[in-house]
Amino acid sequence: DTIGENLDRAVHAFPDRDALVECATGRRWSYTEFAADVDAVALGLLALGVAKGDRVGIWAPNRAEWTLAQYATARLGAILVTVNPAYRSHELEYVLNQAGIRVLVAADRFRTSDYAGMIAEVRPRCPALEQVVLLDGPDWEGLLAAGRAGDPAALAERQAELSPDDPINIQYTSGTTGFPKGATLTHHNILNNGYFVGELCGYTEHDRICIPVPFYHCFGMVMGNLAATSHGACMVIPAPAFDPRATLEAVASESCTSLYGVPTMFIAELADPEFDRHDLSSLRTGIMAGAPCPVEVMKDVMGRMGMTEVSICYGMTETSPVSTQTRADDSVERRVSTVGRVGPHLEVKVVDPATGRTVPRGEPGELCTRGYSVMLGYWGEPAKTAEAVDPAGWMHTGDLAVMDGDGYLSITGRLKDMVIRGGENLYPREIEEFLHTHPDVLDVQVIGVPDEKYGEELMAWVRMRSGAEPLTAESVRVYCAGRLAHFKIPRYVHVVEEFPMTVTGKIRKVEMREQAAGILA
Ligand code: ATP
Ligand code: MG
Repeated sequence: DTIGENLDRAVHAFPDRDALVECATGRRWSYTEFAADVDAVALGLLALGVAKGDRVGIWAPNRAEWTLAQYATARLGAILVTVNPAYRSHELEYVLNQAGIRVLVAADRFRTSDYAGMIAEVRPRCPALEQVVLLDGPDWEGLLAAGRAGDPAALAERQAELSPDDPINIQYTSGTTGFPKGATLTHHNILNNGYFVGELCGYTEHDRICIPVPFYHCFGMVMGNLAATSHGACMVIPAPAFDPRATLEAVASESCTSLYGVPTMFIAELADPEFDRHDLSSLRTGIMAGAPCPVEVMKDVMGRMGMTEVSICYGMTETSPVSTQTRADDSVERRVSTVGRVGPHLEVKVVDPATGRTVPRGEPGELCTRGYSVMLGYWGEPAKTAEAVDPAGWMHTGDLAVMDGDGYLSITGRLKDMVIRGGENLYPREIEEFLHTHPDVLDVQVIGVPDEKYGEELMAWVRMRSGAEPLTAESVRVYCAGRLAHFKIPRYVHVVEEFPMTVTGKIRKVEMREQAAGILA
């Protein structure tokens, strides 16, 4: 199926069930209403002359129109370019030109982001950009009106020209390790991925999925939206940008059965002083992904939040995104210590990054993925594509993993984050897990910093629980002594309020390393 055909199936099977709820405005759509608005947007874009393969950008925080644009562009076979709402004019200009965006759909403004102003600023330098449709003014209303007056036969005609293997989406990676790259994905890539993620979460038309993770990233638009619509489930948007209180309120008021987040989001929700006032008893499952999930946090999510079937997913933008997932019947132990097994119809292997040979089970190496989910390539960057995807179709993830005898994978870090201290390979993840057991530690990250004697030394960045005494290098040494090998004990400790983060909620260790150089200088 194309994404449009798949949506038609849901409308046919579940015409009156909720498709979408936007908590900030109280607006809601049944599947029939949702598909009607999707078609209006698609016909409106068609009236603007959007052809198959044209790039249509969307630049807005999470809101209903974002979702409508997602399905409308899929109906047209246009390539949706999801622009990070935290970008500023310089980054916008890069994406507009890099992807050759012809039509940009954007919020006028949100909080400190003056999207309309930034678009006006860069527009003279973006020759491909022909049309801008602002969401909060007459542009969007006009587009909808034109679309409602349009001829539905034109849409059916377009749909007949589409193939599931057409590119449909360019998503930029999070930029955790460097500059974001535009992964080009097909209907087949992302629709199948959303579908199988939903299958493993056990979704049916009775599920209501609370999606506080950004739509511009595959966690929101694939694991959230496409997983929902391919099962007739409901997408619930708690707020335009992540807000722990609004998320708890949305779960309670919309009786959500599933909740998504990166670990830092769950940490913030659990730490909300009004956490206990919210009735979360409708929650059954959810997904925690995107970054290593600390064991202590996982235990609270299953216990205090009641998400007994919660999955851990591992994946990356380039693989649509999910490659491995824990199953609801996996033991609690496995769900806290692994990222599950390979997903349906996919292959994974763990190789020695130096030789490319598969390593024995139990030994660390670079994780590689192959199958339906692997991107077409990085948009306009064939050399980078060739570095990442080998001729046999394996995506080299840049992540370090260990596979156990039963096929369960554990992510032990990123190749780029591995610390080599005095010739010893150190995995920051292991040390972070240990420091999480300290009662005063709210969250912790460990990085390598340059050292004359050992090549690299470890530095722990720590967020303290409120009211706790800040940790020092000495108190950490005392805490670790006798429980961690001496070379794994961080030499430096840096207490912070927040970590530098990407808008997807991931911690930017590159930036921490840059800042650390300044701190130690
Ligand atoms: P960039 O490629 O631009 O540096 P990025 O890799 O963070 O950024 P994404 O594609 O959003 O961009 O994220 C994929 C990465 O997230 C994976 O390669 C992996 O490092 C990390 N990741 C995803 N899921 C998990 C997980 N469950 N546990 C640990 N790490 C994870
Ligand atoms: Mg990456």
